[in-house]
Amino acid sequence: MGSIVVCGGGVIGLSAATMLARDGHRVTVLEADGESPPAAPAAAWERWQRRGVAQFRQPHNLFPRFRQVCEEELPELPGRLAAAGCRWVDPLGEPSISGLLPPSLSDREPRDGDEAFRFVTGRRPVVESAIAAVAAEQPGVAIRRGVRATELIGGPPSIPGVPHVAGVRTSAGEELRGDLVVDAMGRRSPGAGLLTALGARPPHTHAETSGFAYYTRYFTGPSQPPLHGPVLTPLGTISVLTLYGDNGTWSVTVYASSKDTPLKALRDAGCFARVVGACPLQAHWLDGQPVTGVLPMAGVTDRYHRYVAGGTPVATGFAAVGDAWACTNPSGGRGVSIGIIHAQLLRRTVRSHLGDPAGFVRAWDEGTERHVAPFHRNQISADRVRLAEMTALREGRSWSPPDSPMSRLAGAAAYDPDAFRAFLATVMCLALPQDVLTRPDIKDTVERIGDKTPPPFPGPGRRRLLQLLAGS
Ligand SMILES: Cc1cc2nc3c(=O)[nH]c(=O)nc-3n(C[C@H](O)[C@H](O)[C@H](O)COP(=O)(O)OP(=O)(O)OC[C@H]3O[C@@H](n4cnc5c(N)ncnc54)[C@H](O)[C@@H]3O)c2cc1C
Repeated sequence: MGSIVVCGGGVIGLSAATMLARDGHRVTVLEADGESPPAAPAAAWERWQRRGVAQFRQPHNLFPRFRQVCEEELPELPGRLAAAGCRWVDPLGEPSISGLLPPSLSDREPRDGDEAFRFVTGRRPVVESAIAAVAAEQPGVAIRRGVRATELIGGPPSIPGVPHVAGVRTSAGEELRGDLVVDAMGRRSPGAGLLTALGARPPHTHAETSGFAYYTRYFTGPSQPPLHGPVLTPLGTISVLTLYGDNGTWSVTVYASSKDTPLKALRDAGCFARVVGACPLQAHWLDGQPVTGVLPMAGVTDRYHRYVAGGTPVATGFAAVGDAWACTNPSGGRGVSIGIIHAQLLRRTVRSHLGDPAGFVRAWDEGTERHVAPFHRNQISADRVRLAEMTALREGRSWSPPDSPMSRLAGAAAYDPDAFRAFLATVMCLALPQDVLTRPDIKDTVERIGDKTPPPFPGPGRRRLLQLLAGS
């Protein structure tokens, strides 16, 4: 068995560390933030400060694939989340949320297999503290909070001319050596810079700002509101996201292009209430006690790294996982679900290749590209299309979605129950887009339905939206 250093003790670093220790490895987690989670996860919302995670109190949804990976790798976690007050959601089986089914879908009967879409969700601090509690109890995991990874240590190369990472220097002045260094330092990870400081070529990196601004308010009340529409509803130049939290809480988010200047007025709670109140399917989500003001967030960058550049690894002994590898805008709410798929892949790749750094780096790259990167690319494409739509509508231009296999599947999903479930499976990370799109039954359905577009959801048009933002 090996020793592994995980840099970054966020949701994915801690999940990966726990999985790796379950295979008998000794795992040290270095986490820059010093504060430990409170003993009772439900207290984490009020009490836990996490300066290293800017989105710590932004809304987080956890999809069925997160629950599925937990059941396979961390089977106690769904129960721990439920015990902390997190909410089980049965999107295709709960009458109070049947609004998730498109109104244009005539066959609304439950089907065998619908239970695969169940998920458990809660506010990020509560979820993370439950994950942290599981990691802290795991024999073989040592979590060092308040200790930063500052430098990588080189070792004898496994591939001539390619630096090998043999450990980490820390802000506490120690040297920690390991068979593998895992970069789980999140969307602002210094990992690529630490590698080049060791003499590695820079990884292939792509970064862009997708240009959304998010405005969120949390509420609580005696009962969580029913869903009369999708969780994420596009309404012209805005989208509205309604998420269940833990312990009787929920959140409402309005997001728009960050170039849509009048929308900045949504920071004001009265304006936020006017706009959400004008959305017939979401207005009742305001019927609760606010537990925050309106929390704004903008300037979120999409970033992707590939550590095999031009066919050659930039380094061995190093693996970036979760947001440190790639992150998108949170419009799809999939970062944690994609990250935990990646953590599971890490466990499998370590099982087969830990003693072979050259084999490991290639297997990790291939596995990441095959099983995880398609979710990232799919999100980037969807965000670009939505931003283009918001921009066109804001500028008063007509707009129609570009023709693509995914847009045709989305169209078919509004009319056919199998296409709907297939589309939902890609959205919720249960299936890769390319696997769904090549299914013969789905290809036939998409062909049959053609380019029929579903009716828009009810909400304020652009002129009415501007009036609401201006206070009338
Ligand atoms: C506004 C917003 C909303 C989101 N909503 C959702 C959602 O609804 N659903 C969803 O699934 N995802 C969502 N995400 C994405 C989700 O937050 C990330 O995918 C997730 O946090 C990634 O986890 P991670 O462990 O990879 O990184 P992080 O959670 O960012 O953790 C990285 C950790 O590394 C530590 N660190 C940094 N540098 C060092 C260092 N040098 N040494 C040691 N430690 C270091 C940090 O302190 C931090 O704790 C959202 C993101 C944003 C921005």
